[in-house]
Amino acid sequence: MIKAKNIHKFYGNLEVLKGVNLSINKGEIVAIVGPSGAGKTTLLHILGTLDKPAKNTQPVLSLNNQNLIDLNDSALSKFRNNHIGFIFQFHQLLPEFTALENVCIPAFIKGTSKKEAESKAMELLDFLGLSDRIHHKPNELSGGEQQRVAVARALINNPDVIFADEPSGNLDSNSAKNLHELFFTLRDQFKQTFVIVTHNIELANMADRKLEMKDGKIIN
Ligand code: ADP
Repeated sequence: MIKAKNIHKFYGNLEVLKGVNLSINKGEIVAIVGPSGAGKTTLLHILGTLDKPAKNTQPVLSLNNQNLIDLNDSALSKFRNNHIGFIFQFHQLLPEFTALENVCIPAFIKGTSKKEAESKAMELLDFLGLSDRIHHKPNELSGGEQQRVAVARALINNPDVIFADEPSGNLDSNSAKNLHELFFTLRDQFKQTFVIVTHNIELANMADRKLEMKDGKIIN
């Protein structure tokens, strides 16, 4: 479903990605592991179209056969909104908005009606065990609850893939375990695809595949 070839990235003279090739299938949970500075986040951002690879190395990047290399910024934003979900280490929920509103925002951006967005958001929050928290703002929720709201937000537009960067990095071990189990439930029930950068060994070992990065390359 995702194909990437010849992905290089330079910051000035520093080559932080040195030719990454990978493919990811629908319904797979792939963990990207490796030491700090290996290029994991940079790769995740490129796969998620938040950043661009070097153009002069004939990079290939496609999601469901849509070539993403040549799309302009506005087409990419639209593509991201429709096809890609993100979960970050620090939930990145908007503090002024309730859980329900945070989850609805990507649907509003897509043009979904308020009624339809709220109904889908409530269904997701209910599935994630948060139905009695929908009107709370992020600072009234626990870390684990905030991260589950972020999962609901990532899911609202039925993305083809969810990219997660250290999703449990800020959680206690119990909440982390619950979050990891949730990823696998979503995969088993809905064939949700995940690509997850993680230092969490338990999560990496549960994944269908572990891609190990070192010094800008996948070594394993
Ligand atoms: P990881 O996620 O594996 O810790 P990163 O992808 O965050 O690694 O970073 C890879 C390398 O790229 C590091 O050496 C980092 O310092 C460098 N880097 C990341 N972002 C930038 C940037 N915006 N400008 C310059 N160097 C960067």
